[in-house]
Amino acid sequence: MKFWTHFLFSIVCFLGIMNIAVYINHPVESYFNLESLLLVLLFLFLGSAMPDIDTSSSKVGRKKWFRPLQKITKHRGFFHSLLAGAIFAFILSFVSPKEYALIFLLGYWLHVVLDGLTPKGVALLWPLPFRMKGRRKIGEMEEWFLDLLFIVLIACFIFPFFH
Ligand SMILES: [Zn+2]
Repeated sequence: MKFWTHFLFSIVCFLGIMNIAVYINHPVESYFNLESLLLVLLFLFLGSAMPDIDTSSSKVGRKKWFRPLQKITKHRGFFHSLLAGAIFAFILSFVSPKEYALIFLLGYWLHVVLDGLTPKGVALLWPLPFRMKGRRKIGEMEEWFLDLLFIVLIACFIFPFFH
C-alpha cells in the first residue's frame, strides 16, 4: 500500500479516538492547538512510514542508508510486526513525551494491520510464524477510493473540534 494511504488512515483513527475521548468526557483539548497538532502529525507520519524501511520499493525504503538493513531483514517480516512497533515506541519514549510515543505506536500498528489485509500479509506476531493475511488484492483505483474516503472521514472527525 502507498505511504499516503497509511498516513491518512492513521489520522482517521487518531481523530476517531479523540472523538470517543470527548464523548466519554476525557479532556483532549490540549491536542487541538497548532503546535500539538503538528507534533501529532509528525509522530503519526513517523509511525506510519517506518515499517516500510524494510523494502527498497517504498517511498521511505528507497533511501540508500536503509539498504544494509534490507539485506538482513525480509519485507513484511520483523518490521511489520506488533513487537517491532512496541520496541521502537519504547525507545522513542525516552527521547520524546510519552503520549507522542503512543501516537507513533498507533501509526505504526495501523500500518501493520492495514498491510495485513492484503494477500501478501504481515508477520503480525513475529517471531511466531503466524501471518495475518487478507484474501483480495487492493487495486490502484480502490486505493485511491480509500484515500478519498479517509479524507472525507478526517473532515467529519475534525469538524467537532473547530466549530
Ligand atoms: Zn508496509
